[in-house]
Amino acid sequence: SSFEEIDLGDGLHNNISRCRYEKPTPIQRHAIPIVVAGRDLMACAQTGSGKTAAFCLPIICSLLKSGAINDRKPALGVACPTALVLSPTRELSCQIHEEARKFAYQTGIKIGVAYGGVPFIQQIRNLEGGVDVLVATPGRLVDMVEKDRVSLRMIKYLAIDEADRMLDMGFEPQIRRIVQQMDMPPAGTRQTLLFSATFPNDIQMLASDFLSNYIFLAV
Ligand code: AMP
Repeated sequence: SSFEEIDLGDGLHNNISRCRYEKPTPIQRHAIPIVVAGRDLMACAQTGSGKTAAFCLPIICSLLKSGAINDRKPALGVACPTALVLSPTRELSCQIHEEARKFAYQTGIKIGVAYGGVPFIQQIRNLEGGVDVLVATPGRLVDMVEKDRVSLRMIKYLAIDEADRMLDMGFEPQIRRIVQQMDMPPAGTRQTLLFSATFPNDIQMLASDFLSNYIFLAV
C-alpha cells in the first residue's frame, strides 16, 4: 500500500515525498482515512509508530479542504488557531511542530508552537502573525489562554498526543480546562483525536468525555 491510495490532495502528497516517506505505517494507513472522513478517533499507538503524521496529515488535509485558514489574522493580539495539538513535553511539541511544518510546506497553513520553560513573551511573538495549527503543552497553553493571548473558540480539530503520559505528569486538570474552553459557545462542532500508548481506565474516561461516536483503533 502507498500514500497515493489515500486522498490527501497533490500538495500534501508532494510534501510526503519530500519527507521521503514511501509508504504509510499501519497507524497512518488506518487512522488517516478515518480522520479525513471526519470521525473522532481513539488510537492506541506507541512512540515510533508514525503517529505524528497519522494526526497531522489528515488535519492539514481537512484544513485545506474546508478553506478554514483564511481568517487567522489575530484580532487584538489574540491568536485563534483552528487546530490544536496537545503534547506532554517541550521536546515532543518541537518534534511535532517540525514534522507538521514539513507537511504544511507551501500550503499556506501556519503551524505554531508553545511550551513552558522559555520566556512567555518570546513565544507570543511567534504567534503574532497568526497560526492555523498550534502545538502546545497544556500548562503553557492554559497560561496563554488566561492571559488572552490565545483563544480556543475557533478550534475545529483537537489532537491529544501521548494522553497516558500527560495524565501521568498530572496534566488532567489543564487538559480539562482547555477542552472546556473549546466547548463554550459559540463553538461549533469539533473533531477530536486521542492518542495513547495504553488504554487504562482514566484514558477510557477521557475518551468518553471528549470524543463523540468515536472509532477505536489499536495497532
Ligand atoms: P512518530 O511515531 O510519529 O514519532 O514517528 C517516528 C519516526 O518515523 C519519525 O522520525 C518520523 O519522521 C518517521 N516516520 C513516520 N512515518 C513514516 C513513514 N510513513 N515512512 C518513513 N518514516 C516515517
